[in-house]
Amino acid sequence: MVAFIDLKAQQERIKPQLDAAIARVLANGNYISGPEVAEFEQQLADYVGVAHAVSCGNGTDALQIALLAEGIGAGDAVFVPSFTFAATAEMVALIGATPVFVDIDPNTFNIDVEHLEATIDAIASAGDLKPRAIIPVDLFGLPADYASIEAIAAKHGLYVLEDGAQGFGGTQNGRRACSFGTVATTSFFPAKPLGCYGDGGAVLTNDPERAAVMRSLCIHGKGTDKYDNVRIGMNSRLDTLQAAILKEKLAVFDEELVSRQAAAERYEAALSNHVRTPRVPAGFTSSWAQYSIIVDGDRSAVMASLKESGIPSVVYYAKPLHLQTAYKHYPVGPGGLPKTEFTAEHVMSLPMHPYLDEATQAKIIDAVKNAVAVKEKV
Ligand SMILES: *Cc1c(COP(=O)(O)O)cnc(C)c1O
Repeated sequence: MVAFIDLKAQQERIKPQLDAAIARVLANGNYISGPEVAEFEQQLADYVGVAHAVSCGNGTDALQIALLAEGIGAGDAVFVPSFTFAATAEMVALIGATPVFVDIDPNTFNIDVEHLEATIDAIASAGDLKPRAIIPVDLFGLPADYASIEAIAAKHGLYVLEDGAQGFGGTQNGRRACSFGTVATTSFFPAKPLGCYGDGGAVLTNDPERAAVMRSLCIHGKGTDKYDNVRIGMNSRLDTLQAAILKEKLAVFDEELVSRQAAAERYEAALSNHVRTPRVPAGFTSSWAQYSIIVDGDRSAVMASLKESGIPSVVYYAKPLHLQTAYKHYPVGPGGLPKTEFTAEHVMSLPMHPYLDEATQAKIIDAVKNAVAVKEKV
């Protein structure tokens, strides 16, 4: 079976550096908040091009921390895409605010800015909820349309929180993902573009005050230290071991982005006449967290045919959030979310990672062409 995401090849490539980094942490014995954590946070902030990066336990905590720091809660509407991983809406609901679901642009898989504005207007005129924030998601590695979103947010006085869990490494007009909005979050879950060997996450911002509040929230609402508690917080930290591992992975990350881009270009050249390939608008780059295509007709038949050829494929996301048991009572924008529902029925992701060699990719491409052709004949 071909690997869907090959973490082993990366590990083999940087094994000596990883071994040395892990050994250093074990020798120092600072398992929590060791020097590697501060070093990694600085490297992360520098890489993204923001003033402050605060690491935390995972990308879900990062969203919660960013929402808590803004004082968002009961009665507040937070506009989110439905076509995303649950955490985006989950943390809004968990802190007592109301997620309001917005449709996507099926070409980019990201939030539809026209529907976003229509949804904000509808919620504002209904008057039950106060429009407070937008959480655009950089789905599958492509940054959302921040130029438009930030203009809409400014017009309506809304806070923008970038969910960059998948977008880390992507760009818009030279600006890196996780630098958009007032605060951005990311995840270092192993399969994300920059992944560690466990859970990890971060919040990023240019605002020193918000950064300080978020750091306090990560450590039991600490004041001078964790035994001085000035607010209700959490226990959410990046392990020193994970920080040490991430420093080594960040060192090769740009080279990996180049390889992912080359793989995406090979897919595009070979498959764009056979399936709907993902669109990267002018001025954007994707970190290709996933390579997701739209197939007409019977997706499960295409996936079964790929499986027979030893090619794994995965559906992100078969059931959008507004149709999930836990979220179906929350509001959706005017006219419902037809593009989200269409995409959920037709999307599938192909193997994508920086170590996808041309021979393996040629096999995948043949299998996709074959699966689509077979399907069309019957
Ligand atoms: C993975 C992911 C998260 C959550 O990250 P974890 O580290 O798994 O908690 C949030 N949002 C999106 C869009 C994700 O893909």
